[in-house]
Amino acid sequence: MTPRRLFAAALLLLAACRKPEPPPPPPVSILLVTLDTTRADAVTAEVAPAFNALARTARRFDYAYCAVPQTLPSHTSMLTGLYPGGHGLHENGRILSPKQPLLAEKLHAAGYRTAAFVSAFALARRFGLARGFDVYDDAVPEPRQERSARDTTDRALAFLGKTPEPAFLWVHYYEPHFPYEPPEPYRTRFAANPYLGEVAAMDEQLGRLVAAWKQRFGTNAAVIVAGDHGEGLGDHGEQQHGNLMYQSTMRVPLLVAGPGFSAGVEQTPISTRRIYDIALGWAHIAAPPATTEVVAAEAMKPFLDYGWQPQVMAVDGRMKAILAGRVEVYDVVADPKEAHDLGANASLSRAARATLREYPVPSLDAAASAEPPNVSDEERRKLAALGYVASTAKPVVRANAPRPADMTHLFAVEDEAAGLFVREQYAKAVPLLVRILREDPYNLDAALRLGTCYSMLGRDADAVSAYEKARSIAPQSQDVRQYLGLHYARGPQWQKAVPLLEGVVAEAPDRVAALEGLAAVREKQGRAADAVALRQRINALRTPSSAELVHLGELAMRAGNTAAAIDAFEKANSDHELELGVLYLAAGRYDDARNALDKVPPAHPGYPMALFKRAQVAVLLREPDAPARIEAARAHASPLTRELIARERLFR
Ligand SMILES: [Zn+2]
Repeated sequence: MTPRRLFAAALLLLAACRKPEPPPPPPVSILLVTLDTTRADAVTAEVAPAFNALARTARRFDYAYCAVPQTLPSHTSMLTGLYPGGHGLHENGRILSPKQPLLAEKLHAAGYRTAAFVSAFALARRFGLARGFDVYDDAVPEPRQERSARDTTDRALAFLGKTPEPAFLWVHYYEPHFPYEPPEPYRTRFAANPYLGEVAAMDEQLGRLVAAWKQRFGTNAAVIVAGDHGEGLGDHGEQQHGNLMYQSTMRVPLLVAGPGFSAGVEQTPISTRRIYDIALGWAHIAAPPATTEVVAAEAMKPFLDYGWQPQVMAVDGRMKAILAGRVEVYDVVADPKEAHDLGANASLSRAARATLREYPVPSLDAAASAEPPNVSDEERRKLAALGYVASTAKPVVRANAPRPADMTHLFAVEDEAAGLFVREQYAKAVPLLVRILREDPYNLDAALRLGTCYSMLGRDADAVSAYEKARSIAPQSQDVRQYLGLHYARGPQWQKAVPLLEGVVAEAPDRVAALEGLAAVREKQGRAADAVALRQRINALRTPSSAELVHLGELAMRAGNTAAAIDAFEKANSDHELELGVLYLAAGRYDDARNALDKVPPAHPGYPMALFKRAQVAVLLREPDAPARIEAARAHASPLTRELIARERLFR
């Protein structure tokens, strides 16, 4: 025996002597409930009895922090285990990289049945979190683009009733998000504080869901309840969330009930990104996370949209630091309202300082690659209607950029201007945007919006000067060139749009808005074949409407592209039998032509043409009634078809 074999044999012997290990417990079913816009201090016993009932059997984290105070990136951190600096998604309206592994994918691969029920467009399938879910229910009704907790719970319970074990169920509730309009009886009970009324209405549904979950899976079931971010409610000058990093928006409720988490209260800070690791631990896929670490977070929206200072947070124990141009330090246990900035000299740990220093601020290139190439104008409007302005502006890093905390006087103006803009009330938005630019002259978002307002109002010279202002702020920006190009494409100077839009499309071949502008310009140039190719690219990036398909079909007919025209009309989903009949005939598909033309009704304005084409098909197919069909075409001829019939050789 070689030494190596001897060693192996010894190991085998050793293994045989040991007692057989007990089999690992079966993987538990996991329920993740996320509470949108819920402050940690909102879930009191009076407002949230269901939350507090669950808390009695769970580990309750008093200092849980979201990774970013915005819905989509915060949930992305919970479902990837990474801060936005790691997964690359910093704002709503962007799309997660398809390469980024997700919790549901891992659980699904481990044999879990997976389902998600979300309540807002901000988490719609298209943004990239649906991967790994057998069911991803994001059907949110118009026009609010949100679904009530009651409806979402009904759907989740229907799924629960028939799912096998183990299951991973993610349910997202949206109630507390602005506007605050709780249903009765909460509207009356919380008339003085409708925000809390929304939290209470949501909590009632949380109670229903958790009770059904426990009934379905009994003891072999784990539950996590987490806020995705809080709400300013006026603290530090912020009404909603996303612009600042104080406790009102960063500190969230977090309950963990399951193996390894005894009931009680935990004071150690934790990031909600750790939900990913906790769930993988329960599924025996990965070891549970370390319990103590410096918790980081970011809030980059003001940086990415307005060019203000990037913001990073680090929490070590009771000390919390915010870096935004300069460092603020707070003892959040002694000073939960963060009223006393201890300043840069405070006893902040080395690890916390390193976290602030090393946290990756999104670079120009990274932000560009995270752009949503195929969010259409319509979807951007939907997002903005929720209070989310997903601009595609690239960040512009400048030395003396303002700190977001010093710009709170503009938050409300920004929100109001954005709201008017998406409701297309351009004349009302103009004075607000002018005011923003006067007080914040390097605000690219405001300059682009102002240019677009003027453009839509037909104020051509003002539009060009606003876009030129935007260009001076961000000379390299694709957005500036795209918006200016789209402005020119709408008006009499459309030739000026050509080089601008060509340049953008060459750099970013998937930008739908730029492709649409260029396609319109190509039509005006009489380049129908090029316009067809561009529209086909657009349709591959997003689902076209029936009207858009008909337009493409007509364009393709004009370009003599029979195959593209047939494809468009077949998908158009409406009555285009005459066009299809003509096209099938041109393509030599006589049987298809006959079937299509037979469906054209006598009331159709093109009925004489249909009869003429049908007679041609009858001759080509050698149908016995061809002579009768030629006669019918003659009898019902229009001036145009009479001439065509007279010249038709097939009829001789
Ligand atoms: Zn949210």
